[in-house]
Amino acid sequence: MSKIISREIRLASRPKGLPSAANFTMAQTEIEPPHEGEVLVRNLFMSVDPYMRGRMNDRKSYVPPFEIGKPLEGGALGEIIESRAPNFKAGDAVVTGLGWREFFKAPAKALRAVNREVQPLSIYLGLLGTTGLTAWAGLQMLELKPGEIVFVSGAAGAVGSVAGQLAKLRGCHVVGSAGTEEKVRFLLNDCGFDSSFNYKTQPVGEALKHAAPEGLDFYFDNVGGETLQAALSAMKVHGRIIACGSISGYNDEKPMPGPSNLFNIVTKRLTIKGLLVLDWLSRWGDFEKEVSELYRAGRLKNRETVVEGLDRAVEAFIGLFDGLNVGKMIVKLPSS
Ligand code: NAP
Repeated sequence: MSKIISREIRLASRPKGLPSAANFTMAQTEIEPPHEGEVLVRNLFMSVDPYMRGRMNDRKSYVPPFEIGKPLEGGALGEIIESRAPNFKAGDAVVTGLGWREFFKAPAKALRAVNREVQPLSIYLGLLGTTGLTAWAGLQMLELKPGEIVFVSGAAGAVGSVAGQLAKLRGCHVVGSAGTEEKVRFLLNDCGFDSSFNYKTQPVGEALKHAAPEGLDFYFDNVGGETLQAALSAMKVHGRIIACGSISGYNDEKPMPGPSNLFNIVTKRLTIKGLLVLDWLSRWGDFEKEVSELYRAGRLKNRETVVEGLDRAVEAFIGLFDGLNVGKMIVKLPSS
């Protein structure tokens, strides 16, 4: 096969505050035919995720920063166009970390094969991907028990909607917060939450008192900030908190002040555990078995917000911080 021209999105400059289109640039690159042991892949879907914002800063974290002038990276689902690797053939669907581009070639070890018959295929970037694993892991870490009262923030998003549904399936009473009335209805009507509220139209502390007057056993924190502060006050004695994310502060130029009520940790003997999905990759088999069975049985809902075209990937990414997604934010790339 001759060389392929592929478009890719590169980081042009490091954002200050909320990223804008000016921080990114579209570029073209030539992809050489694959060598022995390599495959050529066309991306069909790519993931945009809040953690990518941290990688746009020039600061070492648990993953290295994106480099200026280089293509961005992230989860992607593609199909093999040409294979020179023994375990893959043209037409196979694969997950990689090489999103934000149309085509690429890679060694076979950079690919994870997935079942093409499962639809939508983009589910491997959400419910059956690292997003689903994050939600599942958060509930494993602090041993959720039936009957417990669970609060999930960012509940209508990718991780939150799966965490809340799994907590319901474990027999818990689940309360969720989200930023629009449409999302509040989605949590009640589609995800089976017992209660949900719009954190933009009412104080979180009051909403929690109303939804769970006896207090919270478990808080799955996706947003940090004022919601974490309100949850700390609403926890029961011996309550547990999973610190999964803190999106309310990802665009802050100065770190936000911590909650003023941390002393609740002492008086209520709370447990707070940080979660990093990368630590859970060795449990992929257990996660996949449970969650894919629940999905096939129709007991877990998969919701996606799909934005079409690589040209709109930056818009989709920035949209995460404006709450434009219900469920997993996915960018669909043309398939031919
Ligand atoms: P997501 O929830 O699908 O998308 C982001 C959502 O965050 C938006 O839809 C928006 O919903 C909400 N949001 C945006 N700005 C906010 C603000 N200032 N305050 C409160 N909510 C805000 O994203 P996700 O991929 O599922 O990630 C959710 C969280 O989990 C993030 O904090 C992410 O970093 C974290 N995470 C952690 C790990 C890990 O390994 N620890 C792995 C994956 C994700 P509303 O309309 O409701 O505001």
